[in-house]
Amino acid sequence: MRLLSSLGARIYGATALSAALALLLGALLLQAGNRSRDAFGWVAHTQTVIISINTLTSDLGEAESGLRGYLMTGDRGYLSRFDGNLREAETVSAALVTLVADNPEQMRHALSLQRFAQAKAQLMNGAIARARVLGPRQAAVPAERDRARRVMARIMREAETMRQAEHRLMVLRTEEANDHSRTLRLLLLLGCPVLVLLIGAVAWQVRTGMSDPLHQLLDAVTRFGEGDRNARALVDRRLGSREFRRLARAYNDTAERLLAAMDQAQAVRAELADANAELRARGETLQARQQSMELLSGVARRLHAVQDETELDEVLSCFLPKVFPDIAGALYVHNHSRNMLVRRASWGDPGAAPETFAPNQCWALRRGQAHAVDRPGSDMICAHAAGDMPVERLCEPIIAGGEVLGLIYVEGLAEDEQQFRLGVLMENVALALVNDNLRSRLREQSIRDPLTKLFNRRYLEEALQLETARAERNGTSLAVVMADVDHFKRFNDGHGHDAGDTLLRAVAAQIQTHFRHGDIVCRYGGEEFTVIAPGASRDLICRRVADLRRTIRDMTVDHAGQRLGPVTMSFGIDVWAPGSVRAPDTLVVSADRALFRAKRLGRDRIELSTDPTQLHAAE
Ligand code: GH3
Ligand code: MG
Ligand code: MG
Repeated sequence: MRLLSSLGARIYGATALSAALALLLGALLLQAGNRSRDAFGWVAHTQTVIISINTLTSDLGEAESGLRGYLMTGDRGYLSRFDGNLREAETVSAALVTLVADNPEQMRHALSLQRFAQAKAQLMNGAIARARVLGPRQAAVPAERDRARRVMARIMREAETMRQAEHRLMVLRTEEANDHSRTLRLLLLLGCPVLVLLIGAVAWQVRTGMSDPLHQLLDAVTRFGEGDRNARALVDRRLGSREFRRLARAYNDTAERLLAAMDQAQAVRAELADANAELRARGETLQARQQSMELLSGVARRLHAVQDETELDEVLSCFLPKVFPDIAGALYVHNHSRNMLVRRASWGDPGAAPETFAPNQCWALRRGQAHAVDRPGSDMICAHAAGDMPVERLCEPIIAGGEVLGLIYVEGLAEDEQQFRLGVLMENVALALVNDNLRSRLREQSIRDPLTKLFNRRYLEEALQLETARAERNGTSLAVVMADVDHFKRFNDGHGHDAGDTLLRAVAAQIQTHFRHGDIVCRYGGEEFTVIAPGASRDLICRRVADLRRTIRDMTVDHAGQRLGPVTMSFGIDVWAPGSVRAPDTLVVSADRALFRAKRLGRDRIELSTDPTQLHAAE
């Protein structure tokens, strides 16, 4: 059964069967042919025997007729063939013995025939010999003639016996030859179709066992080649043979391995593409990062180089739109009293960026950390950033040294790169704000009097230059007041230096509150004070100073549990009016002269400059 499942075994089997049958058929045909040939040989042999018998009897009969003619006529012409006939009869009789050597019965008759033929020849030769001696007519002896007739009769009987026996043999042998011929024909008639059928079976095996499975395999291979990943050859009994099942299985395994290799190659290609994309993305990120670094380092260099708040604001206004080209935002900084956030710069037209707002309006400032809201309802929205909210809003406190300096507010910050930029920018802005604060503090220290916190004399000189130039440029008036505490040495001596300091602080505070915001109040030195009041008219400044003088006179100061005072102050005033022929930078000197006059005239009074155009006492 297992053998039959193999196409090769089936083809080999059918071929071997065909070959064996062909060989058998050939052998049988050869055998039948040989037998037929032998049979026909024996038929021919029988004919030869019959012909030999006939020749023998004919030769002896012809020799006897010649002898009889010679003896009756004496004509020797009758003996012309006599010797030849006897020699031939002798030869034929000897050959006849040889021819029938295979047949004992015929052999016996042949030997008998040979003997009688020899006897007949002797009798006829004896008659010839007598005829030569006695003459032909006298040579005839009746006894010899009877004997010769009897011998001849025996020869003819033996010949006939043999002939009949040969005839019977010939019939039998002919029949046998015909049988062999029929057998031969039968073998050919039966053997050839069977052989043809077997060869046909081999061809059919080849056709059905190979062609159909090959088509099936070819179909699977073609479909696979055209891209059908599921194209597989059938591996079942319909394939017909074990070899094709193995071939189909091998093809299916190869297809599986090929698919696995293709999938692996595809995966490798995909990994490669991913790696390339990642590399490209990293390259782009690096490039973007490099651009960011260049831009931010440019901003940082400028921020480090700014000298005052104005420059800081200018740098921020110029560079923030470049640092965040696609998003809007604003930078807020605490005011001096730290009760408000003041907008210092904005860019990209933010939807919600008020000029100022209170620190408690921002969740980032309240929590001390970044506060982002990506959509309404996702988290608390800062009060300063309320309103329509199409994009994410982020508040990022600017912190340096643990102190919150301000806040950066941005709308729509999404990309990593922008967040990176924001982080770096925050650090630099924080540093710049710290620097700015330090600078402001240093400047404050350099221009402020540490005791009274008023501007010092150095600042006074700078401010006076600026204000005189501005007054001339703008055509506005400019007033200068010189004030001095009366008998302060006595006060010091009486109450002590510390009490004097306390008094000076109280006086400074009163002076400060009696002038408006743009006026510049300075401690000129010791117990002397100077006020520059841009745009103040003579009447206005006189009213203010008079008010101040009264306040000082009524003022008492508590120090170390003691109520000190009152004290008085003397004032000298000079006012420069537009169109005046003199230069405004002489105001301090002339106001000081007026003060000196006020001292001289008894103190606790106000004197205007001796300028002829303005010479009169305020009070
Ligand atoms: P007059 O009315 O003429 O101005 O007399 P006066 O005593 O006020 O003027 P004087 O110039 O003689 O004395 C000024 C005193 O001010 C001398 C000094 O001891 C005192 N003084 C100057 N600076 C300070 C200061 O910073 N603190 C204190 N406690 N005293 C000061
Ligand atoms: Mg003085
Ligand atoms: Mg004084």
